[in-house]
Amino acid sequence: MKIVLLGAPGCGKGTQASHIADRYNLPHISTGDIFREIIGSGTELGLEIKRIIDGGNLCPDHLTVEIVKQRLAKPDCRKGYILDGFPRNINQAIALEEFSSPDVVLNLHIELDKIEKRITGRRNCTKCGNSFHIDFIGNTMRCPRCGNQLMIRDDDNPASVKERLRVYASQTAPLIEYYEKLNKISTIDADKTIAGVFEQIVKVLG
Ligand code: ADP
Ligand code: ZN
Repeated sequence: MKIVLLGAPGCGKGTQASHIADRYNLPHISTGDIFREIIGSGTELGLEIKRIIDGGNLCPDHLTVEIVKQRLAKPDCRKGYILDGFPRNINQAIALEEFSSPDVVLNLHIELDKIEKRITGRRNCTKCGNSFHIDFIGNTMRCPRCGNQLMIRDDDNPASVKERLRVYASQTAPLIEYYEKLNKISTIDADKTIAGVFEQIVKVLG
């Protein structure tokens, strides 16, 4: 099963993707995580990507598409995958149709005014890549899943979040209509508990 997760920043894509990966035994491919790994490598390219991401903008399509194309060509993706954070604009969606057309697109829907609270209060694991909200884990900086150090992402600040939401509305939201036309989209109410959202997803995926 080839699954794409669509949704605004902070809608819970990453959390749900990791649950789907566990349940259906599929690789979870997050372009955000891949870019953060490249940043962590400390190369020239990493610095360039950090500047773009911290500004709330999208990384260049040619780079992003190439990274995803190579990742999906690996053997573990033969049985399918969960794409989290790609495609993020029409150009990327068209490219994806050409090299690996997805079976189903889950649109995690939430009102944009709820998002700021979700993102401020978010803590990310430096090791396993999972993210958590302080409403659930409290003030700890230790990952509930793997025990390693939690951090706050550099792009989870109010100015970057504002820009990310603007980019989402102008570039990513049009993908909903794009995938509606291809008859691939299922809309999920993302303004529920983690379990409540996952339950809806399982109903769609079967
Ligand atoms: P979120 O969904 O919370 O905004 P992600 O971890 O998915 O966070 O992405 C973080 C940043 O990585 C994005 O704001 C963007 O700069 C970059 N990025 C991730 N995926 C893509 C993509 N498909 N195309 C271009 N840039 C991307
Ligand atoms: Zn962890």
